[in-house]
Amino acid sequence: MGAHHPERPERLSAIEDQLIASGIGQYLKRYDAPLATEEQLSRVHPREYVHAIHDAAPREGTVHLDPDTAMNRYTLQAALRAAGAGVMATDLVLKKEVKTAFCPVRPPGHHACRARAMGFCIFNNVAVAARHAIQAHGVGRVAIIDFDVHHGNGTEDIFENDEHVLMASIFQHPFYPYSGTEDPAPNMYNVPLAAGSGSRQFRNAVTEVWLPALEEFRPELVFFSAGFDAHAEDDMAMLRFSDADYGWVTEQVKTVADRYSGGRMISLLEGGYALSALGRSAVQHIRVLAGLNG
Ligand SMILES: [Zn+2]
Repeated sequence: MGAHHPERPERLSAIEDQLIASGIGQYLKRYDAPLATEEQLSRVHPREYVHAIHDAAPREGTVHLDPDTAMNRYTLQAALRAAGAGVMATDLVLKKEVKTAFCPVRPPGHHACRARAMGFCIFNNVAVAARHAIQAHGVGRVAIIDFDVHHGNGTEDIFENDEHVLMASIFQHPFYPYSGTEDPAPNMYNVPLAAGSGSRQFRNAVTEVWLPALEEFRPELVFFSAGFDAHAEDDMAMLRFSDADYGWVTEQVKTVADRYSGGRMISLLEGGYALSALGRSAVQHIRVLAGLNG
């Protein structure tokens, strides 16, 4: 994304470092993400948009898709693999090769709308994966849990009023991208949180809004848009979540997944820019996903 941009490669090594330091890295199975195909992407994005992104990709230098979102000569491949990772994880989980998966991908995806790149996002990775589950595997009910500090406006744009999808999210409000509060669709369970909100407000939102909605929806498969930028140490925003909150929310959702989804959960990295907090928080999340917390 360019020098001094917060969405930087070191984010992934910060997660990897903490996986090693925590000792859980050795228990995880690794896979290389394939490139998403045009067919997979075009279930979510119009073909003209997919072509426009290919056409925009520079041979050298950088081009900006919006003020926050740039492409260099490697970005298209990375974006295709980020979307492909979610598709592969969905295939692995639905073929029962693994029960859960975490995709540490860049660029993130949840701000990418049907036909618009924004907020560091080019393709909506979680949406491409969820649609793959629905259309290629015939899954009837998919839940998307988005705990990034920013509203997942792209995911909402793609799935509002889609009977196959329930989206549960929290986000700082008012804050970028300034959406999610005006008349959300009935399948959107959005909980805006004021700047300064911390563990208590987050856990109340999960307990009082997300879990009852999930219980009623009975998802067959659960996805996470896992952004860790609501952490107190992350100065991208002004929420005050702790490392432990990310383990806790994963446990809460896991109880629903165990009841209705055969424990199947797929998580894709979104934001998280304070490197140490990102690595530690991701480990709390992955530890529960992988069943290594007992
Ligand atoms: Zn974010």
